[in-house]
Amino acid sequence: MHAKEKNNTRFVVVSGGVISGVGKGVTTASIGKMFKEYGFKTTLIKIDPYINYDAGTLRPTEHGEVWVTEDGGEIDQDLGTYERFIDADIPRLNNITTGQIYKTVIDRERNGEYLGQTVQFIPHIIDEVAERIKKAAEGYEIAVVEIGGTVGDYENAPFLYALKFLERDLGARSFAHVLVTYLPVPNHIGEMKTKPTQQAIRLLSEHGVVPDFIVCRSESALDSVRHKKIVECAHINPDNIISAPNAHSVYEIPLMFQEQRFGEKLLSHFDLSPLKNADWSDWQERVHHIVSPQKVVRIGMIGKYIDSGNYSLTDSYLSVCHALMHAGAECKVGVEVVWIDAKKFEQEPDSIAMLNTCDAVVVPGGFGSQGIEGKISAISYVRANNIPFLGLCYGFQLAVVEYARSVCGISDAHTIEVDADTLNPVITVLPLQKDLLNASAYGGTMRLGGYAATLKEGSVVATLYDRGNRLDRTNMTVWERHRHRYEVNPFYVSLLEKAGLVFSGFNEREDGTQLMEFLELQEHAFFVATQAHPEFKSRFARPNPLFIGLVQAARERQQQASIVYNAQLYKASMVAQL
Ligand code: GLN
Repeated sequence: MHAKEKNNTRFVVVSGGVISGVGKGVTTASIGKMFKEYGFKTTLIKIDPYINYDAGTLRPTEHGEVWVTEDGGEIDQDLGTYERFIDADIPRLNNITTGQIYKTVIDRERNGEYLGQTVQFIPHIIDEVAERIKKAAEGYEIAVVEIGGTVGDYENAPFLYALKFLERDLGARSFAHVLVTYLPVPNHIGEMKTKPTQQAIRLLSEHGVVPDFIVCRSESALDSVRHKKIVECAHINPDNIISAPNAHSVYEIPLMFQEQRFGEKLLSHFDLSPLKNADWSDWQERVHHIVSPQKVVRIGMIGKYIDSGNYSLTDSYLSVCHALMHAGAECKVGVEVVWIDAKKFEQEPDSIAMLNTCDAVVVPGGFGSQGIEGKISAISYVRANNIPFLGLCYGFQLAVVEYARSVCGISDAHTIEVDADTLNPVITVLPLQKDLLNASAYGGTMRLGGYAATLKEGSVVATLYDRGNRLDRTNMTVWERHRHRYEVNPFYVSLLEKAGLVFSGFNEREDGTQLMEFLELQEHAFFVATQAHPEFKSRFARPNPLFIGLVQAARERQQQASIVYNAQLYKASMVAQL
């Protein structure tokens, strides 16, 4: 441990009480957004107390989608929430797990770096946690640190301890502690209960932390009786209890906080004044289009994880849902996601006609062979019936397979991920990837993180990116994030192109190989797919251009078909999604 250091960063530490999953991530992101809006250089850090090194090997149905950072990290999806709110790339080093801490310390011990010392929880583990937090916060005026899990878990105790240590090191005036808690209303009592919150406050105090702010999550707003009870229990300034009742959209939360002057209160806690006037008008307008849309488009999502129930499924495609929602707000329409199990089209081929009731269809990313023929049938159907389509990663690869089979007449065309022995592997493992597969463990064989693509002048894709101010016009490049192992086989590219498939963007590898990144069809309402995951670069106030293109096409299709929407149903589905 070190002597007191000079520090210019203010830390907001967000921990959770009572139960997990009540919106700590959104609270953290909203706090970050408020500071950004006041002009502060802000970053957000997520601590995950699990032993996994990162989220790369976590099952999406259990932990939600794996988020990919620009620098290729496979991370907990909370970092996605952060990016969507504060519109900044957050690097992998901002996700700290117990696994990383212990691995680093043990590796160091094996290398003899501790010179014979007994390596212990205090100081070695604590030092490593503190160093990582400081490194992620370096150069920022504000760092909001979210501690995963719930206060009282064995797992997050080391992190609370390390933050307390940092606080002593850097000075208490640089720290604000926010406790996000939950106030249940048990059905049989019909009254909002504060007891679990009182216990969470006590548990936190056992770590030497007295919350400066308490965010009270609940179904409805906090009333004065509950407010008073919490004030008395926490010895907290009554103004610093923030009510956070359920909202229709997570993007309402910063506005809800602002109404209670949460941002200003945090600033005055740190003795700071705004560096610029906050302007929430654009954010407010976008929220309005999500919460009270005049029109709603129906987007069919052809998924795979449906077996685990709707909630897991929506979480597995969380970023895609948000990207659609962002695009909807931009196009001034609500988006209703219709969950469709790809396997249904395999078991009941006639049911495919239900795609006609969708204004557009998304085939998102995925792995393995489950539901693949169903997805291919869906792509065939939307291609032939002029239904707007966006294919993401696996969706892009399957669009290539479908085109090769249906249009080029290569009936056994496939991806080797599903059929390793196909004579026509239109989607394959390229030599470089093959070496990695042979040589290394599973995680190391993917193309991960941001890659540039050179776009074809005049293509649908280039036009969309240009309009969205994301195209570098000097060299016609755009950047998107990747997470996949297979690629379009270069051997088939010219054949597919001759048959009318337009590859509208490619990435050039060091060895000169061109990796196909985008495809599109002319003479179609909207048929676009990408090897990348553009959903990882869609921000609430700056949606991704491909999703805007899809939603615009969906709106046009709906105008032609004049489909009537049911506002009640839409709101219900929206709550379920979030
Ligand atoms: N399974 C495919 C691959 O690994 C696609 C991955 C994805 O959709 N993220 O290449």
